[in-house]
Amino acid sequence: MSARKLFGTNGIRGLVNVELTPEMAIKVGSSIGTFFGKEKKLLVGYDARTSGPMFAKAVIAGLTATGCNVFFAGMAPTPSLQFAVKNHKMDGGVIITASHNPPEYNGIKVIWSDGIETSHEQEVEIENIYFDNKIVFAAWDKLGAKRELAGINDEYIQAIKKHVNKTKIANAHFHVVVDAANSVGGLTAPPLLRELGCKITSINANIDGTFPGRMPEPRPESLGDLASTVKAIKADMGVAFDGDADRSIFVDGNGVIYWGDKTFAIIIKQYLLKNPGAKIVTPVSSSTLIKDTVEAYKGELIWTKVGSVTVSQKMKEVGANLGGEENGGVFYGPHQAVRDGAMTTVLLLNIMAETGQSLSQLVAEQPQYFIEKAKIECPDDKKEILLQKITEQVKGENVSTIDGVKIWFSDASAILIRPSGTEPVFRLYAEAKNQEKALKLVEGYSSRLKKILETI
Ligand code: MG
Repeated sequence: MSARKLFGTNGIRGLVNVELTPEMAIKVGSSIGTFFGKEKKLLVGYDARTSGPMFAKAVIAGLTATGCNVFFAGMAPTPSLQFAVKNHKMDGGVIITASHNPPEYNGIKVIWSDGIETSHEQEVEIENIYFDNKIVFAAWDKLGAKRELAGINDEYIQAIKKHVNKTKIANAHFHVVVDAANSVGGLTAPPLLRELGCKITSINANIDGTFPGRMPEPRPESLGDLASTVKAIKADMGVAFDGDADRSIFVDGNGVIYWGDKTFAIIIKQYLLKNPGAKIVTPVSSSTLIKDTVEAYKGELIWTKVGSVTVSQKMKEVGANLGGEENGGVFYGPHQAVRDGAMTTVLLLNIMAETGQSLSQLVAEQPQYFIEKAKIECPDDKKEILLQKITEQVKGENVSTIDGVKIWFSDASAILIRPSGTEPVFRLYAEAKNQEKALKLVEGYSSRLKKILETI
């Protein structure tokens, strides 16, 4: 964390008791409380991390010291807490989570009254209160109260069920393997799927904040146990959640793990068939598969900068009801315009039940893309000028400069060139109909970037 910065891409994150201490958490709580104002109602909860209760107590102390009334929900997935903020008409919320980071990390996310994370502008306001010591404490007789709020996970489960065809899902008798990474996804997904008539087998199901089963980031290399379990017991599907269960990655009946673009494209197709012309929101880092699918089924594609808060805000701004990211985050507006792992799982099962097709059949009909990635070193102080120079060079092509530079070519290949927000590097991400073309793109643009760098 730099001198005047607390928030990263998704809230405040840090190594427990090194970068993020209880002392800081109290001050962050008081800063958030000052930002919202006295007598406001804020919901607080945490994920399964060992430091969750400690940080929740610290944040609650800070909030109540500024006169905010805290409703404490205990342990819950991030989307469950977000839904409860909206459902209980809270003024906002605070979630203690480090999402997909390893167990030694924790973090603090701030939620606005609509259930969406606060905007970056609002985060700067909180940072200014924190760093300029503008905290306004309440008088001793105006301190906030803390009350328990039980049952939010069940309310969340019942809310999700309203959006799908319960009879069709029940009649399909799906067998689903759930891998909750020993975290909060295990509190909601298994009971939700069981209530929908699915048979559930769970792995990494016990809550354990040391995450002994696998790392909480659902990446193909950490989902071997899930894939082999699905295959061995002949289940219909496997689902893996990240640490706070807002993202979900899926495995088909053959044990094949799919990156989030493929499952998002399945959901887009069915959504556009039912909602012709609808707007679909996705970051510019998403695969050409998303562009192809939206075009094929006559939707309106809206690109955004990379980041889940940006997708949520854009959905709100343009009145879109579906958004998604390649990392397994799907935003289903009729439920809530935030990433929601359990909602995504149920949407997929609903499509499998309605079409009678397996997950592998649904993926098989999609166009295939091959991916190549690279990174080149670039000092932080040269990032802006390098981006400007490469943007000038590719003018006239089919280009988007929403976030970095993305170029689409007529042969359906594409490349995204983006400076990293955290490291002194530029990242290149190419896609093409064959591996050679993708490799050629990455190599070609890497050397162009290096050449420009020599001149600046
Ligand atoms: Mg997450």
